Amino acid sequence: MGTAPLNVQDLHKTYAQLPVVDGLSFTLEKGRCFGLLGPNGAGKTTTLKLCLGLTVPDAGRITLAGLPIPAQAKAARMRVGVVPQFDNLDPDFTVSENLFVFGRYFGLSRADIEPRLPWLLQFSSLENKRDARINSLSGGMKRRLTLARALVNDPDILFLDEPTTGLDPQARRLIWERLNTLKNAGKTLLLTTHFMDEAERLCDHLIIIDSGRKIAAGSPGELIAQHIEAHVIEVLEGVDAILADSARIPGMHMEKNGEGAFFYCQDARPLLNILDSKGLRYLHRAANLEDVFIRLTGRELRD
Ligand code: ADP
Repeated sequence: MGTAPLNVQDLHKTYAQLPVVDGLSFTLEKGRCFGLLGPNGAGKTTTLKLCLGLTVPDAGRITLAGLPIPAQAKAARMRVGVVPQFDNLDPDFTVSENLFVFGRYFGLSRADIEPRLPWLLQFSSLENKRDARINSLSGGMKRRLTLARALVNDPDILFLDEPTTGLDPQARRLIWERLNTLKNAGKTLLLTTHFMDEAERLCDHLIIIDSGRKIAAGSPGELIAQHIEAHVIEVLEGVDAILADSARIPGMHMEKNGEGAFFYCQDARPLLNILDSKGLRYLHRAANLEDVFIRLTGRELRD
């Protein structure tokens, strides 16, 4: 396991006597995207910080880029790019200056970065923004620049903490496309996200954590097959009219949701027949990762 981009064994971290990371183990594979999912407060950001050596664990073993963390965190971080949850670009500098200044953290001079600048700007679709000020950029442009900045040191591993939060659908798609390009180029990605469609699209393997513990692991397809029925029928209103009939369908799993309900089943036809006969409005779709996430972590709000 010493050669895995990131290997985490039995990691523990407690804040104020509360376990925040509670025995986590996982391994990233080179050239793959690994998802770390969980509701708010599950311990994702703390796990990322522990893996980067920015927080010291109470117990457990971490190797990042083959180096022990936190002992050799500084050297390991030279091989890693980080896209933080919130943009922290320097508003006093232009797009290109932000890239040059960031390179200094890696001991890279302007002359080192200059030859890579055209590629970094092209990769982030910011060719025409080289000399633009940060506050003139859209949210999507800032995110793309943050991604380009994380690539300044040509890292092997990228940590992406909610990289598309706050972006419109077009901007998100462009980021997804770029992340796939990086993966195809052999980079290893560690992604946290609250968007299950994003995780389903990008992640080869993922874990779902809650209260600092792993509660599920697998590829998106494996998790869907293991944890949820194949069909979801969301009845939007008037669900009381079909409760008795639907309860007689074998293998039906129902969750009330206000005036409506979610029905999960392997065979959708019996319920669809009932709904059509009553003329009720519904949405019928294949089960997805969000259904798994809700099934495993519950519907209650986490603040
Ligand atoms: P997530 O990223 O999954 O939302 P976090 O790792 O940010 O979760 O937080 C997990 C828990 O640890 C939360 O209850 C949070 O309040 C707590 N926590 C995180 N950092 C600290 C800290 N520096 N001091 C005390 N508690 C913290």
